[in-house]
Amino acid sequence: MFEKILIANRGEIALRILRAAKELGIATVAVHSTADADAMHVRLADESVCIGPPSARESYLNIPSIIAACEITGADAVHPGYGFLSENARFAEVLAHHNIGFIGPKAEHIRIMGDKIEAKRTAKRLGIPCVPGSEGGVEDPEEAKRIAAEIGYPVLVKAASGGGGRGMKVARTEADLEQALGMARTEAKAAFGDDAVYLEKYLEKPRHIEVQVLGDGRGNAVHLAERDCSLQRRHQKVWEEGGSPVIDAETRAEIGGICARAMQELKYLGAGTVEFLYEDGRFYFIEMNTRIQVEHPVTEMITGIDLVNEQIRVAAGLPLSVTQDEIKVEGHAIECRINAEHPATFRPSPGLITYFHPPGGLGVRVDSAVFQGYRIPPHYDSLIGKLIVHGRTRNECLMRLRRALDEFVVDGVDTTLPLFRTLVRNADVQKGDYDIHWLEGFLADGG
Ligand code: ADP
Repeated sequence: MFEKILIANRGEIALRILRAAKELGIATVAVHSTADADAMHVRLADESVCIGPPSARESYLNIPSIIAACEITGADAVHPGYGFLSENARFAEVLAHHNIGFIGPKAEHIRIMGDKIEAKRTAKRLGIPCVPGSEGGVEDPEEAKRIAAEIGYPVLVKAASGGGGRGMKVARTEADLEQALGMARTEAKAAFGDDAVYLEKYLEKPRHIEVQVLGDGRGNAVHLAERDCSLQRRHQKVWEEGGSPVIDAETRAEIGGICARAMQELKYLGAGTVEFLYEDGRFYFIEMNTRIQVEHPVTEMITGIDLVNEQIRVAAGLPLSVTQDEIKVEGHAIECRINAEHPATFRPSPGLITYFHPPGGLGVRVDSAVFQGYRIPPHYDSLIGKLIVHGRTRNECLMRLRRALDEFVVDGVDTTLPLFRTLVRNADVQKGDYDIHWLEGFLADGG
């Protein structure tokens, strides 16, 4: 097992990793920018190292500084969390070169899944159902038109290096396609430095359903059921739940089995998420994330398995602590991503938290790194905490979420708490009757 883990991240996920390390008896090193000197992850770690100025590019994304921090402190592994360097294959390789463990997948798998064209090709080969689309990248408008006619309109032009929903354009007719292609390429080039794009059938009313997987890198892999992340705003997940209100145990075992077998064949190492769109009873692979995800606690609450603990174990060469037979889904869990943003305009609201009172009680979990007197810096994302609630049934979970949201007090900054208080009382949400466009429509109608 590792002796000392450096956590190359900040905020709630840094704290989450710190907790798992402490429970494994592993020493921890926090790194931080000058803007985060008083952050909770810095206070709670055994050691800390300042790695640069506030800009993420010069601190949390600064590979030489992070390697230096490992060398100064003698850390023998790095956990990258999510975002920042978590899906950077080169970072994993540089660490290996310095004999430092990377708590994440093999570099080759990060690289494959980081290129959506390559990812789709791999998924197909592994027997995972995919969205109909182009085989590989598309450059020529005439070729695009031919493929689009084959798969049928509407089609979606997507960036191979895309992320966060950027570089995606819908074309409803052949007349739209040439422009959509050009716009997606320009946007992708500007955002990711790569203008490769591909075509996919645009699904009109899908749900976003994703399967959590874990592998030991030697051919053992399991799935831990699905999460439904259909409530999105601008392709960003807002509310996640597990299991999905529309997936029964048989379907779960079937799609989970497909993902687990694919990961066994790949000899996948660590935690990952296979993301699907789900429409009319069919799953369509869109991408795989090769990291721990923001919404991982949903799965932890319904399975009782500590995913970060498993990530650390397998990165150290130990086997998974559970077999597929031992993984049982119990009850229902919902996560709300609480941002320091105006609940209607979503304008970021950094600043001083003058009062902070998180909810508690049975089945309530708050993953947050903020506290009363904490000043939210303006340099990073606006997530200030995740409220995760568990109940024996979805209804119990919703009632518990309602009361937990009502208990939650954050003063001094705007938060999205009021939005969640409305959502939990909404009839469609209560019925689980929503697709990936539902939330945008709800917000456009004034909430
Ligand atoms: P990113 O890496 O940018 O998050 P994804 O491929 O995961 O890109 O897609 C993000 C979101 O875009 C999905 O959750 C879904 O809302 C929408 N989307 C992606 N592909 C399609 C498609 N073929 N049809 C309809 N919506 C899609």
